[in-house]
Amino acid sequence: MSTKGFRAAAGEGGPNHMSVEEFRVNAYRVVDWLCDYYENIESFPVLSEVEPGFVRSSLPLSAPIAPEDFSIIMKDLEEVLLPGITHWQSPNFFGYFPANASPPSILGEMISAGLGVQGMLWLTSPSCTELETLVLDWIIDMLALPQSYKSTGKGGGVIQDSASSAVLCALLAAREAIQKNSACETGTDPRLVGYCSEEAHSSVEKAFSIAGLGRHRLRRVRTDSEGALSLEYLEAQMASDIEGGLLPFFICATVGTTSTLSSDRVQELGSLASTNKCWLHVDAAMAGTASICPEFRYLNRGLELTDSYCFNPHKWMLTNFDCNCFYVNDRRPLNAAMSVLPEYLKNEKSDKSEVIDFRDWQIPLGRRFRSLKLWFVIRSYGVEGIRQFVRSHAKLAKDFAQWVSADRDFELVTYTGLNLVCFRVMGDDRKNRVLLDTLNKTGRIFLSHTVVEGRFVLRLCVGQVRVDEKTVIRAWETIKTVAAGL
Ligand code: PLP
Repeated sequence: MSTKGFRAAAGEGGPNHMSVEEFRVNAYRVVDWLCDYYENIESFPVLSEVEPGFVRSSLPLSAPIAPEDFSIIMKDLEEVLLPGITHWQSPNFFGYFPANASPPSILGEMISAGLGVQGMLWLTSPSCTELETLVLDWIIDMLALPQSYKSTGKGGGVIQDSASSAVLCALLAAREAIQKNSACETGTDPRLVGYCSEEAHSSVEKAFSIAGLGRHRLRRVRTDSEGALSLEYLEAQMASDIEGGLLPFFICATVGTTSTLSSDRVQELGSLASTNKCWLHVDAAMAGTASICPEFRYLNRGLELTDSYCFNPHKWMLTNFDCNCFYVNDRRPLNAAMSVLPEYLKNEKSDKSEVIDFRDWQIPLGRRFRSLKLWFVIRSYGVEGIRQFVRSHAKLAKDFAQWVSADRDFELVTYTGLNLVCFRVMGDDRKNRVLLDTLNKTGRIFLSHTVVEGRFVLRLCVGQVRVDEKTVIRAWETIKTVAAGL
């Protein structure tokens, strides 16, 4: 391999580029550092213990004028930043949702960073666009999603950074669809109104606000006893909106809500959406991955009636943040909403509509080569490996739910058969808050909370790359011991 490199290219007096050899040495060091980190991850308190301001006060207040040695940078990483890290990759992290960073995805990410590709147009890196369409088509078959989402037909998939961006794109596409491709030119029809359940993620509300529709144009409809959007209330709300001169145009259903993993009834919502000419988007951020297992495919019921769908491989499909798979049944309204073509982006392939240009499928222009890490993951684990991963988590969550229900000192609040258990210690909210706080302060475990029917509950979410039976048993023992001492 050549030892010529970045430094040689910069010439004398140029920036402090590493030579290729220096880069090689430092890169190995970084990989070694990560390997040691993973080997010792359980020795760190799961939740960072630093006080606000610790990091800022431990680093210089202004940027260095002179170049600094890589060793000094690594030393600060170790001494200043590491204490301020909450260890999402710890097997003892059971909070919020998993943020899977599997080894193959990290390696794919490294290569993506190294290639430094901007995949805004097909032309700017054909592999970036073509691998993405291929892998997203693979996923349709892997998860048994509707064939109409495939890029070989009218629809297609694209990787967004997050489920939040996906719902915003869906909303903008829906607005174009209802306004017959004129919303971009003329602005929003002030009569538009949309719906989701009160349990839907806050990103739906944010999308309404960013899109300029205003949060008040989103109706957060009540849920029923199973945590699903109540069709009865939805129909009543829509009827009253129509009577008031408003125009229903968008419904966001959730498959696997953030709080409890409850799901809306997509099939019924699909019929209602089609009767009322509404766009139906499904947000299956974490739960979507589960449909890789045939036994969890009930989660897909009704998807054939949707206009768009998304889930996050960056939550439960072994892929590090960020990676959201967003599908549409018909790409035209999405492209109409997103496409602005300045002279400097024009090129023959795009002009002849021979290719997909993902700049027309997302909000930013530039885009990373994200499908690379997903491709690494899918090929390294195979569909069967990912199924085993999901099943092992579902089994561990089921065990945990059974332990909780069998224990008189605890109450099982919700468990939907996937990887999340909501529970309480017997007693009031205050006792449950203290339990959570005390548990998280032990540093041995991290859980988060939510409120279900007005009551504070603890959430234990199983989904980390390195979690196993031992860690879940230990978590339960820690919870029982801490609760007994309250
Ligand atoms: N939707 C649901 C149901 C979620 O649980 C979450 C995250 O917790 C999101 C959306 C937001 O995900 P992202 O961070 O990818 O925007």
